[in-house]
Amino acid sequence: MEQWAAPGPGVDGAPHGAGADPRRRIPRTDAVLRDPRLLNAAHRLGPGPVKSAVHRAQQRAREGAVPPDAVADTAVALLPPSASGLRPVINATGVVLHTNLGRAPLSAAARRAVQDAAGPTDVELDLRTGVRARRGRTALAALRAAVPAAAAAHLVNNGAAALVLAATALAAGREIVIGRGELVEIGDGFRLPDLLVSTGARLREVGTTNRTTAADYADAIGPATAFVLKVHPSNFRITGFTHAPGVGDLTALGVPVVVDIGSGLLAPHPLLPDEPDARTQLTAGAALVTASGDKLLGGPQCGLLLGREDLIGTLSRHPLARALRVDKLTLAALEATLTGPATPTGEALDADPAHLRHRAERLAARLAADGIDVRAVASSATVGGGGAPGVTLAGAALSLPERYAAALRTGSVPVVGRLEAGRCLLDLRAVPAADDERLAGAVRSAGAVRSAGER
Ligand SMILES: *Cc1c(COP(=O)(O)O)cnc(C)c1O
Repeated sequence: MEQWAAPGPGVDGAPHGAGADPRRRIPRTDAVLRDPRLLNAAHRLGPGPVKSAVHRAQQRAREGAVPPDAVADTAVALLPPSASGLRPVINATGVVLHTNLGRAPLSAAARRAVQDAAGPTDVELDLRTGVRARRGRTALAALRAAVPAAAAAHLVNNGAAALVLAATALAAGREIVIGRGELVEIGDGFRLPDLLVSTGARLREVGTTNRTTAADYADAIGPATAFVLKVHPSNFRITGFTHAPGVGDLTALGVPVVVDIGSGLLAPHPLLPDEPDARTQLTAGAALVTASGDKLLGGPQCGLLLGREDLIGTLSRHPLARALRVDKLTLAALEATLTGPATPTGEALDADPAHLRHRAERLAARLAADGIDVRAVASSATVGGGGAPGVTLAGAALSLPERYAAALRTGSVPVVGRLEAGRCLLDLRAVPAADDERLAGAVRSAGAVRSAGER
């Protein structure tokens, strides 16, 4: 490595001539920050950690530990390690399952299970016999134990994949009978009817947007019918003059009834009376239930297929099942979610409004003592696109000036709040109480960024 002229003693013990004084040549922060590697890191990590690395690199140069022209290299080396561009954030939006923030956060048990499964693992090997074993057998056993009403279960990559597999394996070249009020767009422009038709199945639409009867379904059943599909309108509600038959009204039609419940509730949830669950649908006679793993179930992204043994067998042996199979990390996280204590999603749903208010008041009092314009306010959270449209969950938020929103998002601990009536609200419903200290720190940093900018 090139040795540079440290501010070592000259003949007289003084540093080299004034021109060699490294302090004079240390590049300014804004110049160093133009380095493409640091620009990229600022994008990934936010400006805070990158500036702090640059300041430490400049300090080293001032101390003579590195040459001034190595400040950028040194700052790059000092960046906090982060192997991926995905940054952990605090979800203070008040949307419990926020698709843009990765939906359900994994429980501590699920995170440990992912960590343990990350290396070589016995995902397809029976260690006692040394013989190949069924992939995901323990996760599937946990799923069966959680939903005894399901005779069999299969796992795929997400809820959409569960529908694609069911339509491909059971209905390609045949008809799926579906009510007109259940032709759903799930988000980001993806529409379930398009997805189903892409498998080679034909849709036979029955009824009207607001009203569909069991007789409408019965009239449409014929030799080409593969199954009746019921889709839960999980992100919208039609109210007023409406009717749709339940699963129990359709089982007498003589064709399998497949129910896409969407959210992955395995059993009824008292706070969400209108949200369908796997147990109730299977008990009512559904042949197959499909659902997502990362919505109300509170687990990793995956798709659940639960139901009749013959149908699950057909699905799991179809070539497409191989293309949609889940990886070992998902299997580990799902099993830990199913067998572990309450998930962060469950805890957020069940959080007591009085407790949320107490947390908000405590945080607001401490931050106000630091001179921050903050107060605790009542706030309504929602479950999110993952389910229970129309349900509001009373709780509490920190209310800050609107300009905090951007500073909080771009801080070293990014916090995503929501804007409401000209204020930045940090809703505590989906923030675990254990994160209150980090949240307070982030608000303080955002306040400091702002005052520094105003100076
Ligand atoms: C969310 C949802 C899907 C899609 O599930 P992903 O896991 O996002 O693929 C399908 N159907 C319904 C009713 C849903 O709510």
